[in-house]
Amino acid sequence: MNGKIAIEEHFAYGRPDEDAAGRLGGAWSWAETARRLVDFHDLRLKDMDKNGIEYAILSLNAPAVQMILDTHEAIEASRRYNDFLAEQVARRPDRFGGFAALPMQDPGAAAEELTRCVNELGFPGALVNGFTQRDIPDSVIYYDTPEYRPFWARVQELDVPFYMHPRTAVYQRAQAYEGHPWLFSSAWGFAVETSIHVLRLIGSCLFDEYPRLQIVIGHLGERIPYDMWRIDHRIATIPAGYPAKKPMSAYMRSNVHITTSGNFSDSTFRCAIAEMGIDRIMFAVDYPMEVMVDGASWFDNTPVLTEEERKRVGRTNTIKLFKLALPC
Ligand code: ZN
Repeated sequence: MNGKIAIEEHFAYGRPDEDAAGRLGGAWSWAETARRLVDFHDLRLKDMDKNGIEYAILSLNAPAVQMILDTHEAIEASRRYNDFLAEQVARRPDRFGGFAALPMQDPGAAAEELTRCVNELGFPGALVNGFTQRDIPDSVIYYDTPEYRPFWARVQELDVPFYMHPRTAVYQRAQAYEGHPWLFSSAWGFAVETSIHVLRLIGSCLFDEYPRLQIVIGHLGERIPYDMWRIDHRIATIPAGYPAKKPMSAYMRSNVHITTSGNFSDSTFRCAIAEMGIDRIMFAVDYPMEVMVDGASWFDNTPVLTEEERKRVGRTNTIKLFKLALPC
């Protein structure tokens, strides 16, 4: 399918984070992944052309800003990264859009930076790499706590989606992975971190308070769609004081969207569509952690979709959600 739009496509600013080398791995050697992370206008565009991807919304590779311990430094880095991305987008506005990186260490500064990115840089949303650290290395701050409510109010006011991207757990708190480093990042740990974070947002009544908020998660829903019935069923059964007004699945279907990033499985895709509905699913590759042709050729040929549905997931749903100035 030509004209696809891909929305979990990463770049690095300057020298790619060496910490990511050991933890993230990649489809290529780290050297090749790193080369592709810093490239915008050569390899990336050639690959997009070859694979029928017209437009990509670019975002920083994880964990980026979220691992900066010093709040002031995180605020400055976010501005620098976002200005850099805006320059790249300005060179090819017909091919690239940008997601804002946000200094979640300071919810007020994050709200201000998002506002700047939307109103001045023309970004259609934000992508944040999971929980944030702050001040001390083993800090883990999720965004369901009261200090983030004004931030979410601003996101709703700006009416832009918020992409919750995975990151690895903090080493000091990751005893479950001891002796099993292959589970620590994208094979398993990413989905654990991201799904917990989204379920925490739901359980904190965030979407009761801000019903127009729209969150995006990748990897066909970070395993949540597969387990939605059981989550609802057990929460209704156990007397743990779940405070939100509706079952978790109801918020998944009204406030969450998912993408195909890095999960090119027909059977998982079938489950995701059945649970979420076709209008809440968008195409993404997760380049360069994944090879573009793997994601694109799977998507172009999967028998799970009719041609009409392929166009919706591959293009139209994304244009509508992000209000992109592209023809449907
Ligand atoms: Zn990614």
